[in-house]
Amino acid sequence: MEDKDKRSGKTTDVLASTQTVIKKALDKLGYPDEMYELMKEPIRMLTVRIPVRMDDGSTKIFTGYRAQHNDAVGPTKGGVRFHPNVTEKEVKALSIWMSLKAGIVDLPYGGGKGGIVCDPRDMSFRELERLSRGYVRAISQIVGPTKDIPAPDVFTNSQIMAWMLDEYSRIREFDSPGFITGKPIVLGGSHGRESATAKGVTICIREAAKKKGIDLQDARVVIQGFGNAGSFLAKFMHDAGAKVIGISDAYGALHDPDGLDIDYLLDRRDSFGTVTKLFKNTISNEELLELDCDILVPAAIENQITEKNAHNIKAQIVVEAANGPTTIEATEILTKRDILLVPDVLASAGGVTVSYFEWVQNNQGYYWTEEEVEGKLEAVMVHAFDNIYKLAKGRKVDMRLAAYMVGVRKMAEASRFRGWV
Ligand code: NAD
Repeated sequence: MEDKDKRSGKTTDVLASTQTVIKKALDKLGYPDEMYELMKEPIRMLTVRIPVRMDDGSTKIFTGYRAQHNDAVGPTKGGVRFHPNVTEKEVKALSIWMSLKAGIVDLPYGGGKGGIVCDPRDMSFRELERLSRGYVRAISQIVGPTKDIPAPDVFTNSQIMAWMLDEYSRIREFDSPGFITGKPIVLGGSHGRESATAKGVTICIREAAKKKGIDLQDARVVIQGFGNAGSFLAKFMHDAGAKVIGISDAYGALHDPDGLDIDYLLDRRDSFGTVTKLFKNTISNEELLELDCDILVPAAIENQITEKNAHNIKAQIVVEAANGPTTIEATEILTKRDILLVPDVLASAGGVTVSYFEWVQNNQGYYWTEEEVEGKLEAVMVHAFDNIYKLAKGRKVDMRLAAYMVGVRKMAEASRFRGWV
């Protein structure tokens, strides 16, 4: 996902844009160039080839990656993505974002990320199991509960985490629930993990709405993406009394200015977050982003708000549930237009926060109630939002740069104390 944006012709290389903001953040904090040299790329990047026996008897070789960005603070942590468009650069950028998120919500982790180039929508249940187990065998030497802890991401779920856990435990010859998070509850998963990203986004929306003087009751919300993040968020917004007037998936978008029937759509969506195929009267994802609304939440993929459409965004608040949905140019345009942008590294940090809670519970062997998890998540997210909002106002920088400044600081200090830079 590093190519030219078809609409603007501008480069949309997510790694290059992340590096640009990291450089600015380190400069603002007064760190030397060596610190940027350390942080601009993962410290470790493994590429693996995974042979998988397919159901028809043939063998297919899949390419997978695991990036570990920086482990000065603690073990690295981050999801595994199964998607046909996964690239090495994307996995690297995603691992850097994980480091930033861990810094923003103050977790004892660095960032990691994995990906396999595949399309799980075209694979059988058993083929997916063999691929998941093969990936763990391929990366087993560099992962573990005190080294690097995987989790779900796009098109991976708790069943895939269960297979990965089982494979890892077999290799190590002991049960090791802290190896991976996002597991089913019966295997040591945490209450509240599945909806944690959307819960965190909901808290950010509420805090941002307060700053903008918007009452969530009857506020008009548009959400791009109806997968794990987008669908739970639609439900939480609907339950909070907001009107969800637009949602979308990879095949199109639905719009009703009077509010969509969210419960019906949740009931009809498939496990890949697809629902619009059931309707004739759809609009495009491009049209969805420009709808007249109060709050816009990109919760699907990268590079959706660019310099081409940023001038046409009508929302007063944009909260990035997805990783990397807004380009650097678009961030500038939205900020100049006084649209409050809550950046991905803050808005979607609820997922890794509850993954951390899951890991803590696994290490303790003592499990918390859903209320305990939600109470702790609430406190963490509100503090992180306030911290970044105040820094942005105080230093007169945009919310993304403020979030990066908070996100890199602990990692940079830990790297300095260790004598790396
Ligand atoms: P998911 O696979 O559950 O759902 C993805 C959704 O996006 C689906 O509805 C899909 O149809 C839609 N989509 C895919 N391609 C699209 C396109 N070209 N245009 C419009 N819609 C498209 O994924 P998810 O877990 O909900 O993740 C969504 C985003 O949130 C990703 O950027 C992910 O990295 C980020 N995120 C997720 C979590 C988490 O815990 N799930 C945590 C942090 C960040």
